[in-house]
Amino acid sequence: MKSLHKHYRIADGQRFELASVDPADTCGIDDADRGRDLRKQNTEALLELQDRLYAEHRWSLLLIFQAMDAGGKDGTIRDVMSGLNPQGCHVASFKVPSDEELDHDFMWRYLRRLPERGKIGIFNRSYYEDVLVPRVHREVMDKQRLPPRLVSKQLWSQRLDAIGNVERYLSENGVVICKFFLHISKQEQRKRLLARLDDPQKNWKFDVGDIQVRRFWKDYMRCYQDAIRATASEHAPWYVIPADHKWFARLVVSSVVTATLAGLQLDYPRIDARKIAVARKALRATP
Ligand code: AMP
Ligand code: MG
Repeated sequence: MKSLHKHYRIADGQRFELASVDPADTCGIDDADRGRDLRKQNTEALLELQDRLYAEHRWSLLLIFQAMDAGGKDGTIRDVMSGLNPQGCHVASFKVPSDEELDHDFMWRYLRRLPERGKIGIFNRSYYEDVLVPRVHREVMDKQRLPPRLVSKQLWSQRLDAIGNVERYLSENGVVICKFFLHISKQEQRKRLLARLDDPQKNWKFDVGDIQVRRFWKDYMRCYQDAIRATASEHAPWYVIPADHKWFARLVVSSVVTATLAGLQLDYPRIDARKIAVARKALRATP
C-alpha cells in the first residue's frame, strides 16, 4: 500500500507507453470502501503537512491535473481540497484562452497563477493543453496568432522543451511539481457523458464539443504520450493514474500528495527561546 505513490510515478518517460496503463486497474485493492478509508487517513495526514508547509514558508506545491472530458478532475480536486486549509491553497481552472490571453505567449496565463511559497496551487488543466488541443485541431492553432514563419514541424517539440525548461526552473526555485493524468477508457467516458445527459443536475456539465473531441481520442492519446515522454522528470514527475474507478484515482492522488509533502521533511520554524521568554514575561506583566 505504501508504494501506491511510487507505482504510477513516471520520472523518466523516454520509453513510456500509455497503452501499458489499464484505466480499470486498482492495484489489487478490490474494495472501494477500503480505498475510501485509506484516503481518509491520507486526508488527515495532509492537513498537518499543509500546516507545516505554510509555517515554513519556503516551498510551494503545484499540482497539475490533466484528463479527457469526464475524466474526474473536478471531483478529485474537490476531494484533495476537502482535506486542506483554504487559506493555504488555491485552484486555477484553465478554459479556452481569452483574447487577452491569446495576445501573449502560451505560457503567460499559467505563470501568473503559480502558488506562492507556503501554498498549494492546483491547476485544473494547464500549459499541457497547448500541446494537445491546438496540436489535434489545427484551426485552434491558427487562433494563437503566432507569426507564420515560427509555425514549423518542430513547434511541438519546441513547446515540450519549453515546458521542460520552465518546470526545471520552477523546481530550482522551490516549486515542487506533481502532474496527474487521470486516465479513463473511451467506454468509461461514454458512460459518464451519457450520465450527464440523463441527470438534470449534471446536464450543465455537458458540452457538445466533448463529442467532437471524442472522435479524436487516438490523436489525444498520442499527444498525451508524447507530452509525458518529453516532460516526465525527477523534479516534475507524471503520475498516470487509472481513473475508470473514481475512488481509486482519488486514493492514488491523495497518496502522492501526502508522500510528496512528507518527503520535504517540513518543519515549523524555530523561534529563539529567549524571544519567547521575553514575550511571555511581557504578556504576564500586563492585565
Ligand atoms: P472544462 O474544463 O470542461 O470546463 O473545459 C474547458 C475547455 O477548454 C476544454 O475543452 C479544454 O480543452 C479547453 N482548453 C483549455 N485550455 C486550452 C488551450 N490552451 N487551448 C485550447 N483549448 C483549451
Ligand atoms: Mg468539459
